[in-house]
Amino acid sequence: MLGCVIRGQGDLRVEELPVPEPALGQALVAVRYGGVCGSDLHYWRHGGVGDFRLREPMLLGHEVVGTIVSYGAGARGPAPGTPVAVHPATPCGVCPECAGERRNVCRDTRYLGSAARFPHVQGGFAARVAVPAEQLRPLPDGLGLRRAALAEPLSVALHAVRRAGDVTGRHVLVTGAGPIGCLVVAAARAAGAARVTVTDLLPRALEYACAVGAGTVVRADDPEDAGWPQEVDVAVEASGVAAGLGACLRLVRRGGTVVQLGMLPPGQVPFAGNLVVSREIELRGAFRFDTEFNDALRLLAAEPALDALVSAVVPVREAESAFALAADRGRSCKVLLDFGG
Ligand SMILES: [Zn+2]
Ligand SMILES: [Zn+2]
Repeated sequence: MLGCVIRGQGDLRVEELPVPEPALGQALVAVRYGGVCGSDLHYWRHGGVGDFRLREPMLLGHEVVGTIVSYGAGARGPAPGTPVAVHPATPCGVCPECAGERRNVCRDTRYLGSAARFPHVQGGFAARVAVPAEQLRPLPDGLGLRRAALAEPLSVALHAVRRAGDVTGRHVLVTGAGPIGCLVVAAARAAGAARVTVTDLLPRALEYACAVGAGTVVRADDPEDAGWPQEVDVAVEASGVAAGLGACLRLVRRGGTVVQLGMLPPGQVPFAGNLVVSREIELRGAFRFDTEFNDALRLLAAEPALDALVSAVVPVREAESAFALAADRGRSCKVLLDFGG
């Protein structure tokens, strides 16, 4: 079978790999689609993401959907052939965060295709993948595998909006209109936001944001853009650059909430800390997700408009060009690899 392995910075390979055997408690999944995530692109271009560095070859991919093939000993679940999405996180279940219902920040979690721990957790960009059977989620009626491939990034977006508190009737600012920013727009609308304003440098990215419910879009590099709001109730930073955080802190109302979702550059990032003080801004982080994965599948089933965010489906053999396309936000939003399974 073919798999998509990162061997180091800039060294992405499509390799012939042995088909895994499902171990105790595991299911074997025939992967159909794998979404290329910003973090996959970071491993490819920079050899790491955030503060996590690549230290050994790793199968990439954590946005994976397919059909069940078989089960290992002691595992059970939906019948073989059932279409499923794979929840990529396996929290430890015993740490204080797991006990306190914050499994997404578990201190010993295993996350598909992540170098956060060593040995790295191998990912799902392969034609067959063995994962804990309890990580599988059957797709709701009416949801096909292609749109379901957005379940993981949409879960991230839903979690960020949840971290913002009640957004019903609120004006929400989203900085960054990449796939995650666009999904935050959809998540905020679904949570009852009255208005969503989105900023980005690229007109093409802003078009994707409009397609999923952004009411106002702003060119981030144009201070004269008529779309800049005076003030917003909530801001979600989804660009991962310090300038985005700066815009959020400047535009959120006094006592408002800013959620940092985008992964900032490694190390120290300067920010306007005194605004946090003098305006009593709630500055919160949002990392991955937990039960939002089930909510994401339901929302995807109900929102065919989200299809607009899947901008290309590329055969796994052409993984490198798929990554180049995904990295070029002037030409793409979410790019899926097709493993044919
Ligand atoms: Zn992702
Ligand atoms: Zn834990």
